[in-house]
Amino acid sequence: MRLGNITLALILLAIATTATVFGSTAMNNTVSYFFILVVLVVALGIYVGNTGIVSFGHPAFMAIAAYLTAILVMPAARKSALLPNLPDFLSTFSAPPLLGIVITVFVVGLIGAGIGLAISRLNGASATIATLGLLIVAHSLLVGGTTFTRGAQALYGIPKLVSPISAAIGAIITIFVADWFKHSRWGLAARAVREDEAAAAASGISIKRNRTIVFCLSIAFTALGGAMFALHLGVFSPKEFYFTLTFSLLAMLIVGGASSTAGAVVGVAVITMITEVLRQAEPGFSLGPIQIPALFGLTTIGISVALILTLYRRPEGIFGLKELDDFLPFDIKPRVYKRSVINTPRPTASQTPKSIRVQSLTKRYGGVTALDAVSIDLQQGEILGLIGPNGSGKSTFLSCASGIQRFDEGEVWVHDTQMAQGNPVAYAHNGVARTFQNIRLFARLSVAENVSAAMVSVPGPANSPTVADILTRVGLDGMALRTASTLSYGQQRRLEIARALAICPDFLLLDEPAAGMNSTETDDLAALIMSLRDENGLGILLVDHDLPMILRLSNRVAVLNEGKLIALASPEHIRENPEVAAAYFGEGQSTLSE
Ligand code: ADP
Ligand code: MG
Repeated sequence: MRLGNITLALILLAIATTATVFGSTAMNNTVSYFFILVVLVVALGIYVGNTGIVSFGHPAFMAIAAYLTAILVMPAARKSALLPNLPDFLSTFSAPPLLGIVITVFVVGLIGAGIGLAISRLNGASATIATLGLLIVAHSLLVGGTTFTRGAQALYGIPKLVSPISAAIGAIITIFVADWFKHSRWGLAARAVREDEAAAAASGISIKRNRTIVFCLSIAFTALGGAMFALHLGVFSPKEFYFTLTFSLLAMLIVGGASSTAGAVVGVAVITMITEVLRQAEPGFSLGPIQIPALFGLTTIGISVALILTLYRRPEGIFGLKELDDFLPFDIKPRVYKRSVINTPRPTASQTPKSIRVQSLTKRYGGVTALDAVSIDLQQGEILGLIGPNGSGKSTFLSCASGIQRFDEGEVWVHDTQMAQGNPVAYAHNGVARTFQNIRLFARLSVAENVSAAMVSVPGPANSPTVADILTRVGLDGMALRTASTLSYGQQRRLEIARALAICPDFLLLDEPAAGMNSTETDDLAALIMSLRDENGLGILLVDHDLPMILRLSNRVAVLNEGKLIALASPEHIRENPEVAAAYFGEGQSTLSE
């Protein structure tokens, strides 16, 4: 239970109590509506905040929920008068309000899961467009589905049962669940995907499944908001759930901070206040001798200005990515995540040494052949250096051998499994971890979260190292709470290795890990790489420009030149190989050691 949430809950309860005791009916209505908006905006934030994908479609689900609740809860007599064509099981049945809400959340949540499954196949902007389509389709269905909705006409006579206190309870439950989810293993994985999809996939996070879960939960709470909306207003029509509402909810979320639960609440408060004040002014008013005329659309203009100012001054919203707990004057310990333990642990290196076997791999980029029938195998317990001039295909090889990059011909086998193309998650789950030449961290997550996101996504043996163990191993102890993007360059490189180690890999593919490091850092890194081979039995593919380091550490060295493998031998042989020297330094130099 987090302090910030408890504070927030107490504030909301205090507002609700004050309104109940002292407020007028109008005041009570405003306060109840405020809490319902909190439910809706926090629910929207579960999806938008954790995935970074904007959704225009949430009000569609809210509408379905509102109509479903209305039909479930309305007295049977009124139903037969207003909706005479309802199927029998709906027209004769009248649920107690709480049961109606529970059924609604469940049913609409399921619809959300189904649609989430489809939407999660799309990336960023396409997913957003799809949600927009959803909003329009749902609106047409509501207007057309007269049996259930009375079409464009208002549905009325729904019992008005929401009080400030009950609405506040709905809001508090939503806030607690949203905050719990954000820091759960699924929420953490979703935020990792938001920061960097490729790195998340390489860390074993299954992006589609994760986004479906997030969407489903977000929709379930949107349904709660929709149900409360119906039981609050007692009368509504499809136009209530259209662009105006989408716009307001998104404005609230963006102004407060999409990735912050507390921010969502503040966003609702700010926009509600602006709306209330401007609504008073809309019909015109007099300022002493000056008469201000009626200004139609003043509230919309006000919201737009607030939105533009926020995007201009604080693009991440008033709260940014922070929660109330981040403002406490003392540090909170990083959350400890548990790895799921595999029942049948992968056999250790001493039992059956594994290998990655890349066979006749060819990769073309348009006219450029980046890799030309390259065959290399990497054994557990060895360091294989991979060298070659710039543009010789080293990074391309590493990306093909870790599932990030598709290739044109050839096969990749990890132990006895032939790997499907372009599926980095499967590689991670088969024990292949990698780092990237251009560092790809989950930049706005903490150091501990970077490592944890990978750790929770790939099951490992029961005795595998904890996040703290891994951070100590790479020399980042004491840094757990730092935001990854604030680390120095060398620290960021080490954090990438820590994240790779978090999946308990058998193989580690390192793309220029020493780039940009000073000599002390490079020596530490070399010691770490050797200990990973000697103590943990990892098979390590090491790409680097630091030739002396490669020749010193490697058991074998592979040399690429213009996409072709020109040598694969012991460091001693590579040092004396004239073809390698020519590739590096041009003709005239007969060995690397000269
Ligand atoms: P290295 O890591 O050895 O410097 P790369 O694997 O990055 O080499 O690149 C190999 C060749 O493939 C280069 O000629 C490069 O220009 C080309 N290449 C790499 N990535 C792409 C891409 N995404 N699109 C087009 N060409 C690419
Ligand atoms: Mg490269």
